[in-house]
Amino acid sequence: MIMQGKKGLIMGLANKFSIAYGIAESLKSQGAELIFTSQTEYFKNKISDIAKEFGKREIILCDVSKDGEIEKAFDEILQTVGNLDFIVHSIAFADKNELTGKYYNTSRANFLNAMNVSCFSFTETCKYAPKLMPNGGSLVTLTYYGSEKVVPNYNVMALAKSALETSVRYLATDLGESHVRVNAISAGPIKTLAASGVGEFSKILEIERFRSPLRRNVTQKDIGDACTFLLSDMASGITGEIIHVDCGCNTVGVKFEPKS
Ligand code: NAD
Repeated sequence: MIMQGKKGLIMGLANKFSIAYGIAESLKSQGAELIFTSQTEYFKNKISDIAKEFGKREIILCDVSKDGEIEKAFDEILQTVGNLDFIVHSIAFADKNELTGKYYNTSRANFLNAMNVSCFSFTETCKYAPKLMPNGGSLVTLTYYGSEKVVPNYNVMALAKSALETSVRYLATDLGESHVRVNAISAGPIKTLAASGVGEFSKILEIERFRSPLRRNVTQKDIGDACTFLLSDMASGITGEIIHVDCGCNTVGVKFEPKS
């Protein structure tokens, strides 16, 4: 029970297929108390039954694309729940019409919105997090290998993830003196609502399964357990890191199958 007595916030639960759900399950199994934010009233209603599995707290509304919403949500958490030990940022968005075809067709509006929701929102989360974590704490965001190498159709989301990964290093430096750690998990592909917007996603799943040293795709549990570790005191010396949880896919360039 490495999270016994710890309380934290999960941002980005959409349904049972969400990576945030796997993280919540793992954190709960290790004794953590959980609070959730939701983008809209519509999503809040959709996840209210799921959130009950993890506790009785009210879901707090927070559309991270809007000015002031993160600060407002955090003030509400401080008043109703008190201090936190950890925050999970499992949020990204880009127009799915531009997650296919050539990257250069990305529109300015979609470029800016993808950066705002998928990258800047984590910077803002980290700006207000120390207020909730006077005794220190830990934050984790989610990224993907498309930030490092070209993955067809990932397009503008790849740029947002590159910026997010760089910001993890700067944010870890900013928050280190407050004893707040900041890390990212680079998760292997997993079929979720957000992922289904990426063109030919099932092909990405298949290729990564083939390339994986473990010969399988990553699961919600793989990601959840790694996240729990990073949020726990067991990872007290780890900050500013991008940890790959992808069954080793990122380590394999071209895979040669031995002839049998
Ligand atoms: P998901 O659709 O279940 O979750 C995405 C969440 O982002 C949703 O809950 C949605 O409400 C939230 N969101 C979008 N715009 C928002 C806004 N303006 N304000 C507040 N919340 C907003 O999909 P997921 O795959 O679980 O995605 C979670 C994270 O994991 C994302 O950062 C994604 O890029 C990352 N990731 C996913 C994969 C994958 O293959 N699924 C791989 C690596 C990284």
